[in-house]
Amino acid sequence: MDERASALDAAHSAATGFLASVGSRPVWPQATAEELRGALGGPLPERGEDAAAVVTALARDADAGLAAIPGGRFFGFVTGGELPAALAADWLVSAWDQNAGPGAAAPAAAAIESIAGEWVCSLLGLPETAGVGFTTGAQTSNFVCLAAAQHALLRRADWDLSRRGLRGAPPLRLVVGADRHGSIDRAARMCGIGRDELVVVDSDAEGRMLPDALATVFAERAGVPTVVCLQAGEVHTGAFDPFAELVPMAGRHGAWVHIDGAFGLWAAASPSLRHLTAGMEGADSWTTDAHKTLNVPYDCAMAIVRDPADAQAMFRPGGDYLVFTGWDPWDATPELSRRARGVPVWAALRSLGAAGVAELVERLCARAERLAAGLRRIPGVTVINEVDYTQVLFRLDSDEQTQGLGAAILADGTAALTGARWRDRAVLRCSVSSWATTEDDVDETLVAIERLMIAQRAKSNP
Ligand SMILES: *Cc1c(COP(=O)(O)O)cnc(C)c1O
Repeated sequence: MDERASALDAAHSAATGFLASVGSRPVWPQATAEELRGALGGPLPERGEDAAAVVTALARDADAGLAAIPGGRFFGFVTGGELPAALAADWLVSAWDQNAGPGAAAPAAAAIESIAGEWVCSLLGLPETAGVGFTTGAQTSNFVCLAAAQHALLRRADWDLSRRGLRGAPPLRLVVGADRHGSIDRAARMCGIGRDELVVVDSDAEGRMLPDALATVFAERAGVPTVVCLQAGEVHTGAFDPFAELVPMAGRHGAWVHIDGAFGLWAAASPSLRHLTAGMEGADSWTTDAHKTLNVPYDCAMAIVRDPADAQAMFRPGGDYLVFTGWDPWDATPELSRRARGVPVWAALRSLGAAGVAELVERLCARAERLAAGLRRIPGVTVINEVDYTQVLFRLDSDEQTQGLGAAILADGTAALTGARWRDRAVLRCSVSSWATTEDDVDETLVAIERLMIAQRAKSNP
């Protein structure tokens, strides 16, 4: 057999073996990176090996260090699973090996990605003429949108950033919420905007920006070029900023509104959840992940800019050897060469259909509500947030108990969820973001949590 075909067969068999194990293997990785280096490392052998043998050894030796993310009980961070069509399409992207930067050289990729971008905009109620850049994650998308915003606002102030750079440019005001995601500060830093320069607006108990506090910012200083960065889906509570009030207010002051909707923007795809995002369609740019709520495998996200010319002004590359059309995928992101990472989005959407996307998001919310209801019934557990989306935040009586339970859950392996601090207390966060999570997965997780709490209590009061 051809070496490529036998290597792909080895990968197929290792992949299906792994996927068959995700329901029964410990959800959190069982080996540390240091331990795995033993089997996978050592000096690079002088002579190479057969491709299929390499792939088989890779799958075997990496196994103990894999998290069961494609299963139904990984609730850590905000982590989507992988829809079958998206997973298989992602394999095809590697087999095709297209360079999706230039549209002329990769017309299949350019067509598929532009359709996927239009489908996403239409599902989310955003303008289908927007520029959609496919990035590695919401972190990069936040950077893309802030960089496009900065370039556009400076141009409106007669400053060409591409030519004159940032030093000496008119000051730009970046307004952010107190409970913004950490990737906003990092995106700002990459745009040359430091932490002390951010104007931070207070939020309510769930992390939603307070409209009166934003009004105060504009009242204090009007007429400054301003970006207002809002959020759909706070990473702990899942809360949405009140866009219907905030977006028009920012618009009246000529501000550029950016919305980080890494996982929350998908509420707009469901008629029963759409009220959460009402008003977000009036913004100038939006970030959303495909590898979270949409369940495309890592890594895939979108940076959506209302006027594609604003993204192109910031990102259009140079090089006399490049081949340009009017708009190329490389005009929308910092990458020049890249994989066609939008193709799995096309496959995910085509496999679900518009109704299927709505059902997916609604199902994630229903599972989160079931988890919250079960947690509320366990004595000693306090559910902290309102749980109107996919996130459940809870704690026990003391920070020590909460952190102890978090460690016990990871060691136990029935489910995985991760800790954080919220309003000065240690908390545990659950994000229900996988299409694979069933009601049984939720119930098994609840049983494990209760069992581990009883064991913890027995240990502290022997
Ligand atoms: C996850 C998340 C990000 C970062 O996304 P990546 O895909 O990890 O880059 C940004 N903002 C919010 C609100 C998020 O939940």
